[in-house]
Amino acid sequence: MGLVIVGASLAGLRAAESARRSGWDGEITLIGAEEHLPYDRPPLSKAQLDSGAADALVPLKSRAELDELAITTLLGNPATGLDTSGRRVLLGEAQVPYDALVIATGATPFRLPGADGLTGVTGLRTHAEAVAVRRALDAGARTVVIGAGFIGSEIASAARKRGLPATIVERLEVPLSRSLGPEPGEICANLHRAAGTDLRLGVGVSGLESAGGRVTGVVLDDGTTLPADLVVVGIGVRPATGWLEGSPVALHDGDRGVLCTASLATSVPGVWAAGDVAHFPNSRFDGDLMRLEHWTNAAEQGALAARNALAGPGEETAILDTIPYFWSDWYDHRLQFVGTPRADEVVTLGPRGPGAIVLYRRGSQLAGVLTIDRPRDIMKFRRLVMEPGSWEEALFQATERTAATV
Ligand code: NAP
Repeated sequence: MGLVIVGASLAGLRAAESARRSGWDGEITLIGAEEHLPYDRPPLSKAQLDSGAADALVPLKSRAELDELAITTLLGNPATGLDTSGRRVLLGEAQVPYDALVIATGATPFRLPGADGLTGVTGLRTHAEAVAVRRALDAGARTVVIGAGFIGSEIASAARKRGLPATIVERLEVPLSRSLGPEPGEICANLHRAAGTDLRLGVGVSGLESAGGRVTGVVLDDGTTLPADLVVVGIGVRPATGWLEGSPVALHDGDRGVLCTASLATSVPGVWAAGDVAHFPNSRFDGDLMRLEHWTNAAEQGALAARNALAGPGEETAILDTIPYFWSDWYDHRLQFVGTPRADEVVTLGPRGPGAIVLYRRGSQLAGVLTIDRPRDIMKFRRLVMEPGSWEEALFQATERTAATV
């Protein structure tokens, strides 16, 4: 019995560590679908694609460190179901009983129809996929990326860094315009163009061409065929909750993520959720229901869900009022975002490219900030989002900062 965590990535690991560090001396079992000990994913689409990067996986915690924390791992064992009345996680024929459960199964990439079994076509979510992409780049692959989101942009960047041809195919007319807004999306598009990436916008993929089981090209809706040796699919993810279907854990009607309270409790007593899988109302942003797919969020939520899961009867649980944060590295540029892009107004200050500061206004307050190549500034704006600072103050600060550098 004890604390069981399903999902052995960052959120799951942080849940296990925080449970132990907060004084829980009962059993902790970490269940994972992949064979590997928990590892970090951000480098998979960044440094691990550089030529000369090692194949070996470096776990976030070694086996010895996990043993020291008395964390039992059941790896290569995807959960297949949940019996909440018997308080058991089902792993095929096997069962793992729990007193408290944290769901941290993350998300599964959408696949491209017709791509299964074709060599040279891959998503990028796992260490094995990163190794496959790096080997293809080492071999000088002509790369086509489907989706101009974060995966697509970072892969194109890795290919161009080596001087290889890279094309991004994106359904939207302006990449990231739905998530960041049209003007910031255009700025992002220009980073690609400046680096020599061929951007095909407002067009979908109608099929793949292959020879001998290996991909040779991507056929677009407009009839164009793009020759390709490597096709990376980065068209978004869905919460990995198939194993919860049919259980009483309430799921979101749209994407089937787990519906949580602000303290990450699910609809079932004793069951909590954390990371990419969890929807939660964020009190900092008018109680907006958010599901965040970011590294910092996974770490923070994992730790909080476990502490709350182990709170004794009558003990108060903590509430998550996080300021979302993510970063992405494209070419030689660093994009950073704090807060929320769901805004009444979006204003760009400074150059429409590297050095830009984009402010997101909600009512009379600063709700979010995107910066390009301003690592020091973003943390100052984070404080302003947290306060929350007034819109006038944010405009003033952004004007000052951009004026100082142009
Ligand atoms: P993403 O950021 O959601 O972007 C997917 C993009 O693909 C969207 O622009 C989407 O457009 C487009 N798209 C969807 N279907 C398409 C199609 N059939 N043809 C062409 N374009 C299509 O997802 P992702 O890049 O796959 O990344 C996966 C996950 O990894 C996300 O959770 C992401 O946050 C995370 N990640 C994060 C980082 C980072 O934070 N630095 C880096 C890599 C990955 P629509 O909006 O129109 O669907």
